[in-house]
Amino acid sequence: MRILLISTYELGRHPFGLASAKAWLTRAGHEVSSADLAVERLPEDAARDAALIAFYLPMHTATRLALPVIEKIKRVNPRARLAAFGLYAPLNAQLLASLGVTSIAGGEFEPALVAIAAGESAPPISLDRLAFLAPDRSNQPSGYARMHHHGESKTVAYTESSRGCKHTCRHCPVVPVYQGQFRVVQREIVLEDIRAQAAQGATHVTFGDPDFFNGPAHSIRIVEALHAQFPAITYDATIKIEHLLAHRDLLPVLRFTGCILITSAVESLDDAVLARLEKRHTRRDFFEAVDLTRAAAIALAPTFIAFTPWTTLASYRDLLRTLVALDLVENVAPVQLALRLLITPGSLLLDLEDIRAAIGPLDSKSLVYPWKHRDPSVDALGHAVFEVAHRRIKDARAAVFQEIAALAGLENFNLLPRAAIPWLDEPWYC
Ligand code: SF4
Repeated sequence: MRILLISTYELGRHPFGLASAKAWLTRAGHEVSSADLAVERLPEDAARDAALIAFYLPMHTATRLALPVIEKIKRVNPRARLAAFGLYAPLNAQLLASLGVTSIAGGEFEPALVAIAAGESAPPISLDRLAFLAPDRSNQPSGYARMHHHGESKTVAYTESSRGCKHTCRHCPVVPVYQGQFRVVQREIVLEDIRAQAAQGATHVTFGDPDFFNGPAHSIRIVEALHAQFPAITYDATIKIEHLLAHRDLLPVLRFTGCILITSAVESLDDAVLARLEKRHTRRDFFEAVDLTRAAAIALAPTFIAFTPWTTLASYRDLLRTLVALDLVENVAPVQLALRLLITPGSLLLDLEDIRAAIGPLDSKSLVYPWKHRDPSVDALGHAVFEVAHRRIKDARAAVFQEIAALAGLENFNLLPRAAIPWLDEPWYC
């Protein structure tokens, strides 16, 4: 059977999920092509010929971008069966069904996709432990994000050593699907995936695991093997504050094996908000993580949900002032000072009474429950900050920060020139 796999966006990287699905379906005997519309055009010939067209939906933005593509595909090839796979497929199953998507595969989706291709039924979410195949990175397009470090622009490989998460933060889309569990990708598969991308010129690796230290022993074995084989390759990973503190002894190992950047979802500096989100860290823990990563000589890139129903003008100003005090202005992509809490279908946030009271009906275009802040000036600030972060996406972080601080009614800070930290030229969205 001819199958077309379509991805729309995954943070400017060639998706692991797309390449893994391709490998599984090819092994099952299908003729599989794939397209990542983040960097290439929709292959209309392949779409016309395909009997099954499956959309990879690993994140909110990808799902939103896929909706008009689904409509287009139905015009190009009305006979094709449509499927969706990845984290956001089961979360948006109802809406996708209304668009004509007849099959959903979430969680550890590969066997379900093979079953769907065979015309069999499959569970919308599976958490089976899989024996992974090496992702099929053949015909990988170019044009992805690059890592900028010490004046060098590096080609980035993208891989995943685990999926899911053992934590249950209230706002996190991983939780409704994985329910506090994670699954590992076998070490040899991860290393083979990296080797394939290194052969195509990658000199930096992004580990896209929701949290690289859900299984720290597994992760350390991978980066030690990576470093032994490719001592010049650098990497970045996402690690929660709680894990940075709990596994502080491993930070020098990360540095030694080539880790130059750790992204950490700090979300807020307000302990009351952190408790609402069940992040299991405090403002003080964040300060400690800043010290620990500095001591290990690894750049920390904190991410935030700057605008929540609990944000106040005072707490927003405190966030900006604290970033200056901690000398972290260069570490934070300006879009992180603009992001708004997304309340998506299935979110545990919907358990909170004040959230239920603040939201409107699900918006079928933005795929979120829209909410308004009780103080319109906070919403107005949020919109103004987003406009600046979006318009000045290529500008120096310190200059953009000053404009945002002025919008928040703060003084001009005396920001000393700093060497840029390692940065990926694709800002982190959700
Ligand atoms: S630690 Fe990160 S990935 Fe895990 S549940 Fe919390 S926000 Fe989600």
